[in-house]
Amino acid sequence: MIIERIWVGNTLRNFNYLLACPDSGEALAIDPLDHRQVLAVARDRGWHITQILNTHEHHDHIGGNAAVAAATGARVIAHELASSRIPDVDRGVGAGDVIQVGRTVELECLDTPGHTLSHICLLAHTGQPALFSGDTLFNAGAGNVRNGGNVHALYRTFVDQLMRLPANTRVFPGHDYIENNLAFTLSREPDNRDAAALLERVRGHDPAGAPVATLAQEMRHNSFFRLDQARIIAGLRLNFPDLPEQPDAETVFIKLRELRDLW
Ligand SMILES: [Zn+2]
Repeated sequence: MIIERIWVGNTLRNFNYLLACPDSGEALAIDPLDHRQVLAVARDRGWHITQILNTHEHHDHIGGNAAVAAATGARVIAHELASSRIPDVDRGVGAGDVIQVGRTVELECLDTPGHTLSHICLLAHTGQPALFSGDTLFNAGAGNVRNGGNVHALYRTFVDQLMRLPANTRVFPGHDYIENNLAFTLSREPDNRDAAALLERVRGHDPAGAPVATLAQEMRHNSFFRLDQARIIAGLRLNFPDLPEQPDAETVFIKLRELRDLW
């Protein structure tokens, strides 16, 4: 599988992706927004985009569907519950469904509610697995739940699904928020050396060349994976004096999400 990450360069800081089968040249476009760039990259590489996958229904993840489909004839795939909110969906998918691209690429659909209630992450079971996480998991952060989401569902998605994936899984999120997210991590854990070192590396960076983190790295610098850390809990109890001394992990997650909304 060939992965092409496309930096849109917009204020929302979106990444678009093309995943291609090297044998057949067939490609899947994930969350196309900048259709010109997506089509240009496919043309340059000699690929034919046959499918589009929208991780969820937000406008900045579906905005290029119509133009890409018109230019290529690609079929549109989305969560089975999102088809009423995304125009012209050809295939609705749920947990465990497989998207085949050409002869060599197979992508497993994970049903990952939270950011919205109809959100799909794609998992490639390649030698080193790859997760296309949309707006569920960001580098050093988690999706917000302000536009049709639910924080309890997001917590369950993190604990029941994302945290159980192989540690060497590479993470390909829908946006570049890494700099701001690492600053948030350091606001919660000022002595987190992994976060400090990575922030140093990416500060003022060109997102087109952003590093790709693994889940093992996320476990070290992403507060939403570090729910049992004493420093994080102690900090939260300053912000929320009513918190018990040992809050459960879900409460820690919810309070972190609340503070990140204000960050
Ligand atoms: Zn979104």
